[in-house]
Amino acid sequence: MSLAEYLARPEILRLPAFDLGKRDGNPFGSETIKLDANENPFPPLGSAGVNRYPEPQPIRLRVAMAALYGVAPDSFLVTRGGDDAIDLLVRTFCRPQEDAVAVCLPTFSAYAHFANLQGARVIEARLGADFAFEPKRLLDAVAGEANLKLVFICSPNNPTGTPVESADVLAVADALPNTMVLSDEAYLEFSDTPSLADEATRRPNLIVLKTLSKAFGLAGARVGGLVAAPETIAMVARAAPPYPLPTLCIDEALKALSPARRAVHLERIERIKAERERLAPLLATSPIVHCVHGSAGNFLFLEVNDAEALSRRLDTLGIRIRFRPNAAPGGVRLTIGTPEENDAALRAFEVPATAAPKQRRAELVRDTKETRIAVSVDLDMAEPRRIDTGVPFFDHMLDQVAAHGNFSLLLSCDGDLDIDAHHSVEDCAIALGEALGRALDDKRGIGRFGFALPMDETEAQVLIDLSGRPFCRFEGAFDATHIGAYPTEMTPHVFRSLADSMRAAIHVRVDGQNDHHKVEACFKAFGRALRQAVAREGAADALPSTKGVL
Ligand SMILES: *Cc1c(COP(=O)(O)O)cnc(C)c1O
Repeated sequence: MSLAEYLARPEILRLPAFDLGKRDGNPFGSETIKLDANENPFPPLGSAGVNRYPEPQPIRLRVAMAALYGVAPDSFLVTRGGDDAIDLLVRTFCRPQEDAVAVCLPTFSAYAHFANLQGARVIEARLGADFAFEPKRLLDAVAGEANLKLVFICSPNNPTGTPVESADVLAVADALPNTMVLSDEAYLEFSDTPSLADEATRRPNLIVLKTLSKAFGLAGARVGGLVAAPETIAMVARAAPPYPLPTLCIDEALKALSPARRAVHLERIERIKAERERLAPLLATSPIVHCVHGSAGNFLFLEVNDAEALSRRLDTLGIRIRFRPNAAPGGVRLTIGTPEENDAALRAFEVPATAAPKQRRAELVRDTKETRIAVSVDLDMAEPRRIDTGVPFFDHMLDQVAAHGNFSLLLSCDGDLDIDAHHSVEDCAIALGEALGRALDDKRGIGRFGFALPMDETEAQVLIDLSGRPFCRFEGAFDATHIGAYPTEMTPHVFRSLADSMRAAIHVRVDGQNDHHKVEACFKAFGRALRQAVAREGAADALPSTKGVL
């Protein structure tokens, strides 16, 4: 008998096992004539697919999320957000009036909420000094408790931001072999703590909670899940509602997890962490803040002197933060937002925020039948540069553009390379041009430039005018058909695509013997010309045109 079976409520054991592989709904355009589920054959006007029930466990999402967390699909259960996962656990294991759960305060209030709903007792331990998790405090609080079914450990902890050492979670699991220990990793992506997901697949009493709400920005779609031993997953699945996730939410989550978008999503996490590190010392200088706790989440926990005055000021500024007086006197939790939002928050905390220059960054996705592309550019940062078009030589060329252009570029493409490189190369150029055009926005504070570059026997010259009028002239010819998987004939095409999508005039001239040098010199010179064209110079709002508009 598995531990999950031993611990489960009798009502759960009497339920039929949930068929985790069952496919209802209308998965993947199957040709099946569906007359089984009393669905309406007609989707609502203007929308597709939602007339069918979704799959009970959306298999593609389950596989994608399991892969994201590095576990096998049978160790993963997709739930309607992490909150639903907590509810399912309590309902699977806790008999009303008999069983207990344990929490370490201050922590996420949903654990006690769902336990109370189910009629389970909540045993409260406390975190130690500086909100550090101390296994002994928890174990002392639950000593002698015969019916302890669940222990909730939140790492990093909400609202205090403190991470919990993996060894401490495992020490609790070791000490309580007949209790399910949940490690809530809702904010783990923002921390440096390793995940316990893999460990949870191998231990009968360890469960890890995951959510796409925080790190992947999907709070509105309600997608989360549990990682555990397959027996535990199968048991908890019995308590799940028949169709927990709406089709639209499944689709949104799958889009967010698509390989091409991964790099941009991960970089956003880095940006949020960088903002957290920028804000913490600034908030420490605030006259109303007397303590900023180190945080490993996408939020900071502060203790302030006059919470009521702060609350009033925030109200007038239209800024919402979370007051947590039960966690600490004057305790507030401030979520990390965009740099502009954070600067507004700093002003509310009476910290003079340096008005950051307008951000010149753009992120976009471009999905067609042939290619799925995500790109992010930041003209005011030189790093990071990560390019994965699937065509190594073209990666190298785009890296040259960004490196010589002195801007940050993330570009991933998942394209039909089984046909050839044409679509991927062309569509990446279009997407990059569009992103550059958007990052330049109204083109204030930029110039028109050109660059000539010798490379051994080759000479390339690129002139750019960010005129708003697309035009491309390419002078040069290649002998080789390919450099690696990259078709050389795509080179004029790439510059034409860039000119069109950036709405710029681009003139390229290249002479030489070696085709590799010639192609590379074009891209390098383009990067150099771009660097000059987008460099901030003079007054931030000076337009480099006598017409006053470009
Ligand atoms: C936000 C959060 C969750 C779950 O969030 P969902 O949006 O329901 O997925 C779980 N645990 C903690 C500690 C959280 O803060």
